[in-house]
Amino acid sequence: MAKKKAPLRVLMTFSEVAPFAKTGGLADVAGALPSALRELGCDVRIVMPFYNRFVEKIAKKKLSLENLLVPLGSQMLAADIYYVRLDDGVVVYWIRRDEFFDRSYLYGTPKGDYFDNFQRFTYFSRAVLALCPEVKFKPNVIHAHDWQSGLVPAYLKHLYGTEEYWAETASVFTIHNIAYQGQFAPELFSLTGLPANFFSMDGMEFWGGINFIKAAIVCADVITTVSPRYSDEIQTKDYGQGLEGVLQANRSRLFGILNGADYKEWNPETDPHIAANYSRQNLEGKSICKLDLLREVQLPERLMNRPLLGAISRLADQKGFDLLAVVLDKLVAQDIGLEILGIGDDKYHKMLTDVAHRYSEKVSVELKFDERLAHKIEAGADMFLMPSRYEPCGLNQIYSLRYGTVPIVRATGGLYDTIQPFDPVRGQGVGFRFDKYEPESFWRALTEAFAFYEQPETWRQIMQNGMAMDFSWKSSARQYLDLYEKALAGKEKAADSGQEAADSRQQTENRRQ
Ligand code: ADP
Repeated sequence: MAKKKAPLRVLMTFSEVAPFAKTGGLADVAGALPSALRELGCDVRIVMPFYNRFVEKIAKKKLSLENLLVPLGSQMLAADIYYVRLDDGVVVYWIRRDEFFDRSYLYGTPKGDYFDNFQRFTYFSRAVLALCPEVKFKPNVIHAHDWQSGLVPAYLKHLYGTEEYWAETASVFTIHNIAYQGQFAPELFSLTGLPANFFSMDGMEFWGGINFIKAAIVCADVITTVSPRYSDEIQTKDYGQGLEGVLQANRSRLFGILNGADYKEWNPETDPHIAANYSRQNLEGKSICKLDLLREVQLPERLMNRPLLGAISRLADQKGFDLLAVVLDKLVAQDIGLEILGIGDDKYHKMLTDVAHRYSEKVSVELKFDERLAHKIEAGADMFLMPSRYEPCGLNQIYSLRYGTVPIVRATGGLYDTIQPFDPVRGQGVGFRFDKYEPESFWRALTEAFAFYEQPETWRQIMQNGMAMDFSWKSSARQYLDLYEKALAGKEKAADSGQEAADSRQQTENRRQ
């Protein structure tokens, strides 16, 4: 009998993981992809920071080890490691150092980033590598995500890769949003402990400063983005945020895999947060959800028969609220309702508060993070707005499809990849899309949607087309698994060609410095 293949050991590093700590889509991915990989037979473990405010509540966690010594510059700073095995078998490790992670927010307050984010996430990334031998987990693949884990592939390649323990570990890095790069002053470089020559054009130096995401791009064996369209877009000047050249130069290692949706969390048939469950076959519950939402956010019940538009979003420049601001007067001149749930930049808080005061009969704005209300909006709204300037993947439009809430989106990144425009001739398509980031184009898409809303039969068809779409994680997880194998094969090939030997010598040299 053939010997059973050992499970692939995958270590995932995230700065946020649902349900433990979340600011956006990264946490949703972190909460679902590990489990989907586990179902495909991988041994998956997650490492994340111990944010006291969120993690302290988790009753089941256990202390794994105390006083893990992690270098930061010339100091050795101790961390305590906690862990839990989740019901699906995935193990989560938390790195606890209160000086860095006992804060009110994850990355900064509404006024700006924390002053020591460089130290916080350099420490986190280095702790990931220090942790593994101590908990006796030897990953085949380390899969790091976003700038907060950007130094993980760099540490693996330039500091730890020579150790036998790490010699066969491949690194994969996923860019969830190229706009957040982790840029810091050059003086901080020495704290990383990386070799001096890594602070160069071919390394993590970027316009004279430090750039974490660039470090990951040049070091990871495989780079991915969260939609195929976005992987192309970021190689252009309009979307690359200055890193388009670096991405082009590394494009043979760059792939796009669309995020999935966690239908255990986002499914109107089973959702415990909504007023009534419903399905594609039986949509009755959806109007109960609409009434419930109108009452909850104190919009008039007469809007029951009018289009109710919803948006749930970080309030950041990326998300298109400046476009919304331009069309708003025209929009509220229509007989519609608008419910916005969001938190983020002060300027959008002010703008939206003002709008909600001016049009209190039609517009309601909730400036907070509220998971429960997010579910109620997905279920209760008729249309979902995502006029993003750019959108690496976007999850809310995918959730909206399942809830029969028709997305109106700008044709960019994952929004382009997931929302096929409705074609009345063939009766196909799931939403409305506009190309140019201009108010006129947005307005055209809105009025197109309003016109179809007046045709109940057609509208139901659009809703049901969307509800039939399946973006479950399984197929995306399979694609990641293929890439892990590719990364490992690439490493083996490099080792065979002897290139590794030369690298090794260099790394040994680096560690001595
Ligand atoms: P991004 O990662 O850019 O913020 P995504 O669409 O990929 O955007 O993911 C956003 C996730 O965060 C969704 O699960 C969405 O419901 C959630 N979310 C965003 N803002 C809020 C909020 N104010 N309250 C509750 N959930 C929110």
